[in-house]
Amino acid sequence: MTDWAGLERQYSFSLFKRVPLTLVRGEGTRVFDEDGRAYLDFVAGIASVSLGHSHPVLVQAIQAQAAKLMHVSNLYYSVPQILLAQLLCENSCFDRVFFCNSGTEAVEGAIKLARKWGKVARDGAYEIIVAEDAFHGRTFASLSATAGEKYRAPFTPLLEGFRRVPFNDVPAVRAAIEGNTVAVLLEPIQGEAGVVMPDEDYLPAIRALCDETRILLILDEVQTGMGRTGTLFAHQTYGIEPDIMALAKGLGGGFPIGAFLAREGCSVFAASEHASTFGGNPLACQAAYAVLKYMLDNGLPAEVSAKGDYLCRRLHAVADRHALVVEIRGKGLLLAIGLASAVAERAVHLAMEEGLLVNNVRPDSLRLMPPLTVSNEELDEAVDIIERVIVRLAAELESANEAEEH
Ligand code: PLP
Repeated sequence: MTDWAGLERQYSFSLFKRVPLTLVRGEGTRVFDEDGRAYLDFVAGIASVSLGHSHPVLVQAIQAQAAKLMHVSNLYYSVPQILLAQLLCENSCFDRVFFCNSGTEAVEGAIKLARKWGKVARDGAYEIIVAEDAFHGRTFASLSATAGEKYRAPFTPLLEGFRRVPFNDVPAVRAAIEGNTVAVLLEPIQGEAGVVMPDEDYLPAIRALCDETRILLILDEVQTGMGRTGTLFAHQTYGIEPDIMALAKGLGGGFPIGAFLAREGCSVFAASEHASTFGGNPLACQAAYAVLKYMLDNGLPAEVSAKGDYLCRRLHAVADRHALVVEIRGKGLLLAIGLASAVAERAVHLAMEEGLLVNNVRPDSLRLMPPLTVSNEELDEAVDIIERVIVRLAAELESANEAEEH
C-alpha cells in the first residue's frame, strides 16, 4: 500500500499535526479509510461538512454546475452568485454580500470594510477591539485580530490597530473604546479557543454599547454560522443584529467558499476597492446555494437545536458517571467535552481506534462538530464510544498514577 504519510512528509511543508489516518471516501456522517474501515466523522472538516459527506443534493448541484459553467470573472454577471447573495440577504439582517474563498478572507474583507467606514463616517477611526483567545484566521489582518502567540509570534510585526480585551467582559470593551475605535470584532462562541460560550447578556450588551458609541459590531460566524448552533446564525439566539458578519466553513457544505455580509449603513465600498478572482465563482456559489436552500427548506437549524440538546443531555449523563469529564460546553452541534486532565490527544487516538473522529481542540478538551444531518442513532453511537474512551483513559491515568507511586 502507498505510504501516503511518507510522501506527504517528503513533499509538503510540515505544518499539520495529522492523525495517522488517510481518508478516501465519505457518505453521510461516515468517512472511510483506505482499507474501507468506517469512522463516524464528528469533525466534519472542522464544522464544514454541514450536510454530511456526498449529500446527493450537493453532489448533484456541483456536478450540474461543473458541466455548465465552472468559472467566469467578476467582470461579468454570474447567476449563481446573484441568487446566493439574494438568498443570504433574504434570510438574514444584511443587505449586501461579498463572496471570497475562505474564513480568513471573509474576516480580512470585514476588517477592510470597517476601516473604510471609519474613513467616511468616523473621521478616519480605524482601531478594532478584539477578544483574548480569539481566532479569526491566518492572513495578516485576521492574524492580527487573532490572539495566541503560537499563531502570531513567527510573523511579527503584525498589522497595527487592534486592541485586545478579555472575552465576556463588557466593562473592558467600554473602557477600550476611544475616539479612533471603529468596531468590535467577536466570535459569538469562541470555537478554536475550546468552544467558549458567551454569557447570555454579553452580546446584547456589546450591541448596545456599539450603538451608544456609534461603532460597528462585526461578528465572525465562520465556525458558528450556517445552522451549526441551532439557528441559521448564532447571533439570532441572542436576539441581536451585527453590522457585518463573516461566514465560511459550513456555507459550502465542504466546498470552499467564504463571504462577508453587511448592513446598508456600512456598505461603503466604492468600485474596485475590494475584489477576488475566484470569489463568487459560479461553482462555489451553486454549491452554497444548494446547501442553504436545503437547510431552509428542511428546517435544519431547528433540527440541529433539538439534536444538540439531545447530545448535550447524553454527554451530561456521561459526565455524571465519570469524574474525568468535568464540563460540557457549547450550543447546537458545536460542543466540547472538558476533561479533568490534559489527555485530549490520547482520547482522539482511542476514539479513532473505536471508530469515531473527534478533535482535541485543547489539551484538556474534545470538540464535537458532526454534520448537521447526523441522526440520533449516530449521536448515540458516538456517545457510547466516547464513554468507552473515557473508561479507557481513566484506567490509563490510574495505572500511570500507581506506577508513579511505586
Ligand atoms: N474565523 C473563525 C471563527 C474560525 O474558526 C476560522 C477557522 O477555524 C477562521 C476564521 C479561518 O477560516 P479559514 O481557515 O477558512 O481561513
